[in-house]
Amino acid sequence: MAQRAAELDAADPLASYLDAFVRTEGVVAYLDGNSLGRPLRATRERLASFVDGAWGDRLIRAWDEEWMAAPTELGDTIGRVCLGATAGQTVVADSTTVLLYKLVRAAVDAQVRDHPGRTEVVVDTDNFPTDRFVVEGVAAERGLELRWVTPDRDGTVTADQVRAVVSERTALVLLSGIAYKSGQIADVAAITQVAHEAGALVLWDLCHSVGSVELTLDAHEVDLAVGCTYKYLNGGPGAPAFAYLAERHQGRLRQPVQGWMGAADVFAMAEHYQPADGVRQLISGTPPIVGMLPMRDMLALIERAGMAAVRRKSTALTAFAVEVADELLAGHGVRLASPRDPEVRGSHITLEHPDFRAVTVELWERSVIPDFRPPSGLRIGLSPLSTSFAEVATGLSVVADVLTSPRA
Ligand SMILES: *Cc1c(COP(=O)(O)O)cnc(C)c1O
Repeated sequence: MAQRAAELDAADPLASYLDAFVRTEGVVAYLDGNSLGRPLRATRERLASFVDGAWGDRLIRAWDEEWMAAPTELGDTIGRVCLGATAGQTVVADSTTVLLYKLVRAAVDAQVRDHPGRTEVVVDTDNFPTDRFVVEGVAAERGLELRWVTPDRDGTVTADQVRAVVSERTALVLLSGIAYKSGQIADVAAITQVAHEAGALVLWDLCHSVGSVELTLDAHEVDLAVGCTYKYLNGGPGAPAFAYLAERHQGRLRQPVQGWMGAADVFAMAEHYQPADGVRQLISGTPPIVGMLPMRDMLALIERAGMAAVRRKSTALTAFAVEVADELLAGHGVRLASPRDPEVRGSHITLEHPDFRAVTVELWERSVIPDFRPPSGLRIGLSPLSTSFAEVATGLSVVADVLTSPRA
């Protein structure tokens, strides 16, 4: 396996990108880039020069000079590099959870206002907890009904499942672009079309998609999307999220957290709220400028490599992980809980074994770092630009070692 990994690393056209990331002696294999991306070396200098430059030297003047524009300027960069979105539709703000709330509310309120019978929201039972919790809260707040779809084991929601539940009563369909458990990629194009045929809007949670798979939101006529920047965009812990709101909806949808920073004229100190034009209206309070810094280094790196090449590396990494798991782990009762077809697989795979909770504790002690998802899933997240094939082989061989050693 080590030999095969070395061959794959030698043939990897993106191998030189590994040097762009901070590496510490202490980490044997980092297999959780899908939860928190590694820092980039360039980020050290960016953060230090921010203290002495824009912040320390320009002080309050920097708001006018660059920071006021940052949420939409950075949003446009994410849109161009990762989302297939033209400028003016993406903004950086808040957390994914808060942006989900704003967009779900904005979407259902607009739908109910224009079509009073549209009082249902379609969501899946395997969606990430925050998505389910937010939509439950909005449903309670607005008197809406939730239509739950249950995806297949190891899979994600299909277009046929969505077709079976949408109707003239559907306001919104809320789904994830990649299932956080199985890693399966949803058919964004087909599902969006099915929802539109029923007159519903679609909101895609792209937390696991952005920076790992190629996205074409404009081309697929996606209505709304949100996503994290601390996973495959390496923005650092708690980096702000992004929201995409298609231009055609910008006059019609209005988010509920009306703050001064999303107002038409921020410093007019007006008596009443008047929303800004365009996607800027999604902002509420002062933009988290410091939190926006690290992701800029990753976006520059992804743009240099190109999303198509990033996706090819991602597919090769997960294919190799499946190969290693088949060879070293399948014989010990480990089951692959992700698609075998790389075309529908994102950048992580999930392995299942009843002992994985205890195994994960020991792996972390040995500095092999995947994550555990109950009840028995070990997620192997392979951030394409920062993960080598050798790291996959080493990490999974330690998993095999721990799994087959006697445990207290
Ligand atoms: C990671 C993740 C989130 C996280 O939301 P936060 O508000 O950043 O905590 C939301 N949705 C999905 C699908 C995720 O994978």
